[in-house]
Amino acid sequence: IDGVVVHFIDVTRRKQAEERLRASEARLQALVEAQERFVADASHELRAPLATVLGNLELVHRFPDMPEEERRLALGDALSEARRMNRLIRDLLTLARGDTTTPPPPQAVRLEELAAECLRQISLLGPEHRFEHALGPVTVAGDPDRLKELLLILLENAVKYTPAGGTVRLELAARGAHAELRVRDTGVGIAPEDLPHVFERFYRADPSRSRGADPGGTGLGLAIAKQVVEQHGGEIRLQSEPGRGTVAVVRLPLARGQP
Ligand code: ADP
Repeated sequence: IDGVVVHFIDVTRRKQAEERLRASEARLQALVEAQERFVADASHELRAPLATVLGNLELVHRFPDMPEEERRLALGDALSEARRMNRLIRDLLTLARGDTTTPPPPQAVRLEELAAECLRQISLLGPEHRFEHALGPVTVAGDPDRLKELLLILLENAVKYTPAGGTVRLELAARGAHAELRVRDTGVGIAPEDLPHVFERFYRADPSRSRGADPGGTGLGLAIAKQVVEQHGGEIRLQSEPGRGTVAVVRLPLARGQP
């Protein structure tokens, strides 16, 4: 033997690349699974009201001589379930559009003006509630239509889950580099075991606790709210005390140039 050649190869880069590939494959897999679960849940949620609509219409169609009162009930149920499907489809489309379309270029949005407009709109829904507000001037960069959606969802929930005579309060102020929006209500609140799940798609806490009869929510409102907030680079959380009320807190980055 005249000599020996020893080859050292640094495989750090290769290992890192393999690691990155594995991580992105896992992320993709999780995304596909979430999408499949969403489609399965959406079909399930739509199937139940559709079964009532079809069943009741079939009944009315096949038995033209059925007693008037029964016919009225069957058609009334079919109508309210068709309305429920309509709400579900509207919310599903909103979520899907938010997931798949590129948001328009951000505009400067005077949040206090939008908030006042939404509060006026919502106060018509709850004439038996008290509405309060403390709105400081705040400008954020974003999509005014989507921000309006966010405000309406939070205000509508505050009214929906607060019995007559309760108070809904909207607060807006700039804190540091953020706009801070709070929607407070004195309603039924959310149980601690439900609180971590309310932003999940289709999650609804016990509907019997909402104001009067089940107002027929879709369980998608807060999922849409979270999507809008995240698209604007912000964050949202709920604080709640069962029986005393709920506060939704939204933080959004201020538009550049604002103190
Ligand atoms: P829903 O259509 O059921 O209102 P959301 O996604 O808007 O769907 O809310 C999910 C759940 O969170 C609701 O079913 C309700 O149980 C709870 N929730 C949301 N906002 C409030 C609130 N202000 N007070 C009490 N519970 C609330």
